[in-house]
Amino acid sequence: MKILVIGGMHGNELLGIDLVKYINEKPIPNVQVILANQRAIEASTRFIKKDLNRSFPGNIKGSYEDIRAYELIKISKKYDLVLDFHNTYCPDNDCGFVGQDSDKKLYDIAWLLNLDKIIIADYDCMNKYASNCLSIEISLKSNLYNTQLWYERIKMLSKLDELKVTPKISKYSFIYRITNEDRDIYSLRQLNLKAFQPLPKTLAKKMNQKTPVYPIFIDDKFTPYYYGGLLTKIS
Ligand SMILES: [Zn+2]
Repeated sequence: MKILVIGGMHGNELLGIDLVKYINEKPIPNVQVILANQRAIEASTRFIKKDLNRSFPGNIKGSYEDIRAYELIKISKKYDLVLDFHNTYCPDNDCGFVGQDSDKKLYDIAWLLNLDKIIIADYDCMNKYASNCLSIEISLKSNLYNTQLWYERIKMLSKLDELKVTPKISKYSFIYRITNEDRDIYSLRQLNLKAFQPLPKTLAKKMNQKTPVYPIFIDDKFTPYYYGGLLTKIS
């Protein structure tokens, strides 16, 4: 299948950027690469004016990120599959992201890539507008933070025409963004919260959340404007 690999949707998340460079050095037939937020990558920052992954479907007359979002959607249509790489400081946070109306084959692909957790994103990220886009979130300390490993996996995928797998994937969606104020009010730093491990029931109740509820992106330095997110399990 024809694959587009996106690096640097967030300009300071290095796995995808390194992967794009690596594939450029050792090309794979049927696989093309693109650096998404090129200006942010040059500046080693998440974004220039606004978060590119909150700027979809984009606008050709808007800011730099609006234009890039517009271009990425256009380019993505030429591929069977788009793989978009991200990183987080939060440990044990490896997962995939798809949109609500995404192609069902993305679940098979996630499973083939050893991802067993998928978040269905409903905000203005690329997944919402590109039904062939699987975003891959890898913790900085994960064993999966490995350029060579992803290179081999993408090479494997690119040779497949048919997928015959039965994915066993847990699906989640965001129900709340934990603010820095919440962090202080509920003394969250002392609680040693872990990604995808249910929030203690008493705390969930205090935060007016139905249980079970699962934290993610806890204290992620890439997104210091939030303390984390809360997910609900869909299936
Ligand atoms: Zn990211």
